[in-house]
Amino acid sequence: MTVGSLPDIHHPPAALRGSAEVVVIGAGLAGLACARHLSAAGVDVLVVEAAEAVGGRVRSETVDGFRVDRGFQLLNPAYPEVVKVLDLDALDLQPFDAGVAVHRGGRVSTLRDPRRHPRAVLDALRFPLGTAKEKAAAARWVLGTTSAAALKEPDTGWAQALDAADVDGELRRSVLEPFLAGVVGEAEGTTSRRFVDLLVRTFLRGTPGLPAGGMQAVPDQMAAALPAGTVVTGVEVRHIGLAPRSLVVETAGGGVNCEAIVVATDAHAAGHLVPALRVPGSHAISTFWFGAATSPAPSSRAKLLHLDGDRTGPVVNSAVISEVAPQYLRAGAEHRALVSAQVLGADVSSAVEEQVRRQLGRVYGVNTAAWTRVAAHALPHALPVVAPPFEGPQPVDVGDGVFVAGDHRENSSLQGALVSGRRAADAVLTKAFGRNGFKRAG
Ligand SMILES: Cc1cc2nc3c(=O)[nH]c(=O)nc-3n(C[C@H](O)[C@H](O)[C@H](O)COP(=O)(O)OP(=O)(O)OC[C@H]3O[C@@H](n4cnc5c(N)ncnc54)[C@H](O)[C@@H]3O)c2cc1C
Repeated sequence: MTVGSLPDIHHPPAALRGSAEVVVIGAGLAGLACARHLSAAGVDVLVVEAAEAVGGRVRSETVDGFRVDRGFQLLNPAYPEVVKVLDLDALDLQPFDAGVAVHRGGRVSTLRDPRRHPRAVLDALRFPLGTAKEKAAAARWVLGTTSAAALKEPDTGWAQALDAADVDGELRRSVLEPFLAGVVGEAEGTTSRRFVDLLVRTFLRGTPGLPAGGMQAVPDQMAAALPAGTVVTGVEVRHIGLAPRSLVVETAGGGVNCEAIVVATDAHAAGHLVPALRVPGSHAISTFWFGAATSPAPSSRAKLLHLDGDRTGPVVNSAVISEVAPQYLRAGAEHRALVSAQVLGADVSSAVEEQVRRQLGRVYGVNTAAWTRVAAHALPHALPVVAPPFEGPQPVDVGDGVFVAGDHRENSSLQGALVSGRRAADAVLTKAFGRNGFKRAG
């Protein structure tokens, strides 16, 4: 594969830092992971980030005395690359309870992982949604996700996989479908069954949580481990191209000459910078954040993910974030509870907000009129599409000294982004520098 159409850029780079051995474009988790591996191998690396801070899709902000993440997401400490790259103790992960509260027909039923909550076995047996036959089929389906044989079977969308497993009743419609829609960013069931299997296996292995300092603490920790001056923020890369004796990264603040470029942007932006690259489409996700006087969920269910089993509106899941991570309430917060609501699509208009409020009112059994809208984030390129057949890692070396990292090279998750960064760094070291982790002499 070759980039092919790189433009020739002859004017010399101005401001910024004029040169680096490797320029990484994008300081999301993929770019930061890549920079970290390259830096550890002695490479002079510069990370150029368009936004005003590091993190990409993993960002947090403080609004009205609340910490909110820019898009509801969780860190699963069972991701193998997360364990390798991050100092989880320092992140002080605040775990969710492993399970869901399902609101259906005016009743709330909880389904917890009995391996972590032994007393939940009875709840699971009494769980009112779905027939005994469907529950047995669902249990077989979940166990099937852990079998090596499943990997070899032809891939389909997850809806077809549930059909094939005979999971086709109230349990599917009220629990599995909304839950999976929130995880993969689509409700049609078109995402690869193999990828969904992988996610389910990770949920079985670890309980996701939120860093006490917000999701932003994840990229901040990674950036802090890089040599000072490695990351430049607020600088958008416009083009990459060939200069007379090197590659060049063109930005509004001038160009940077380098020997290799790693495009570590989201798939959509990567498609612009490297037109020859085949990139997947994206799923859009929006998150509403509300401030409430008190937690709308009783303490027994406060740390669970809440699902609307009646599916009466656009919300796929909701959580009382301040119950899971009280640190999200900052000094001066007017309200005592922070509630998230995740919606598919990129629309945070007042019309959607109205539907969301009505739906949350039914879900929690409270009046949401007095809740304040703290923030709302519409992310049109939230997750890259992972369509069947999911074939795992995609090429990171696109030729001519240009490499690509990002979740779209691996799979749409924090784990995928981190692994893609490491793979791109390895490819740079081997291909562009002809070495395996050792700085080239001279
Ligand atoms: C709402 C939401 C919920 C999610 N939930 C989860 C979850 O619960 N668990 C999980 O594992 N994953 C989740 N994810 C996925 C996870 O966040 C992403 O897979 C991961 O963060 C992608 O990292 P990345 O480095 O590949 O890309 P990005 O984070 O998108 O980073 C790319 C960076 O490139 C920069 N950039 C783009 N163009 C340019 C340019 N021209 N010049 C300079 N810089 C540029 C961008 O500003 C950005 O900082 C979720 C994502 C979203 C949006």
